[in-house]
Amino acid sequence: MEIQNLTIKAIHQGLRNKDFSATELVESFLKRIEEENKEIFAYIFVDQEGALQQAKEIDQLIAQGRELPVLGGIPFAVKDNILVKDLPCTAGSKILENYIAPYDATVIKKLKNQKAVLLGKTNLDEFAMGSSTEYSAFGPTRNPLDKERVPGGSSGGSAAAVSAGLAVFALGSDTGGSIRQPASFCGVVGLKPTYGAVSRFGLIAMASSLDQIGPITRTIQDARTVFNIIKGKDPLDSTSFWIEKSDSKFNIKELRAGIPKEFFVKGIDPRIEKLTTESIKRLENEGAKIQEISLPHCTDYALATYHIIMPSEASSNLARYDGIKYGLSVQESNDLKEVYSRSRQQGFGQEVRRRIMLGTFALSAGYYDAYYLRAQKVRTLIREDFRKAFEKVDVILTPTSPTLPFKIGEKTKDPLSMYLSDIFMTAVNLAGIPALSVPSGKVENLPVGIQIIGKPFEEEMILKVGEVVEKL
Ligand code: GLN
Repeated sequence: MEIQNLTIKAIHQGLRNKDFSATELVESFLKRIEEENKEIFAYIFVDQEGALQQAKEIDQLIAQGRELPVLGGIPFAVKDNILVKDLPCTAGSKILENYIAPYDATVIKKLKNQKAVLLGKTNLDEFAMGSSTEYSAFGPTRNPLDKERVPGGSSGGSAAAVSAGLAVFALGSDTGGSIRQPASFCGVVGLKPTYGAVSRFGLIAMASSLDQIGPITRTIQDARTVFNIIKGKDPLDSTSFWIEKSDSKFNIKELRAGIPKEFFVKGIDPRIEKLTTESIKRLENEGAKIQEISLPHCTDYALATYHIIMPSEASSNLARYDGIKYGLSVQESNDLKEVYSRSRQQGFGQEVRRRIMLGTFALSAGYYDAYYLRAQKVRTLIREDFRKAFEKVDVILTPTSPTLPFKIGEKTKDPLSMYLSDIFMTAVNLAGIPALSVPSGKVENLPVGIQIIGKPFEEEMILKVGEVVEKL
């Protein structure tokens, strides 16, 4: 097997056994990036010098016979909305084109402590707003499995990098599906952790009550390894939190899995429905108890609720980009207000401006009660749907995406059809619970993921179920 396709564990052993050096490993990744990134455009920025320097340090450690941490020397990629000290961080936006991060995100600090080797920053929809990575100000990423198609989004660069063997693992962020949907489209594993399980310190905020950082990997075991390193309470993020659930023994024969009856109705590609039903059947054959459940508010209202709460929070978060404090500053006038508005007009793309307008509208006097406040009440109903469902089942299964990876350009003209890609995922963010996308098969040679949703802080449970799907 090629070195770029090895798992974390295999690379760790290879390094320890001196089958290859960390420098050789990193060089082979940099070479492949050089060959393929022009076309796929998974990376916005490659830190060749930094990666080689880190690899050299690993090789010295190994030569001294020192213990290698589990992620020591493992080459990885980071979505370009997560801060790495002294490297550019664009969030896929012109407004941050020349911005250099002054500090490390907590997740980066944790990975640096492990001596994982950062290869570079990956492409994303501008400020993580999108489902295809076409809304990046720097151009679209292509799906490595079919280059005419999108890799999904907004963490499309991270998913494409892992899928194409341009990184062993990558970090993404998920506000309404942005880890899971690109993982599904690129045939890899994506974990959106419980809200708060991973510190958001150093993540460029989109919608703060929904955002979570999580891993994108080729195997479930790799996702577990990375998650266990990055999770945990962080004094720099007051919403971060972790509860260790007792490691009860997992037995597929005792698993109770719920299938929401509302999720298999409108708009879903019948081939995806068939494939998902077959995957569920295989779990049943292994002994899992499958039962129909109901999430009455989710399919009808989650997407609408998400598209009120998300832009409301995003419009507040993005108020800080005023042409003065960060990044692009258009100083064609002496009038401060003019500097603000021209910088924002020229710095933000169309989709970001659309969401700022929608969010500002939903929060404005006279409309707040009708939109934002009502959406928050519906959010509570959605949480309740899940709470009640989890009294009867351990996990909930749905398709990750209702469609196959679509063609580049197919949905950019119609924002509503783009928003519909997230129908099965946004409810999970509104409820703050964890979910995993695992490859479950192919339709016309394109990958299809299944979504496994779990109870808060039961990442280990959904990973175990994911392992069964992976094996089958
Ligand atoms: N695709 C969704 C959106 O456009 C989700 C984005 C995300 O999770 N960052 O809002």
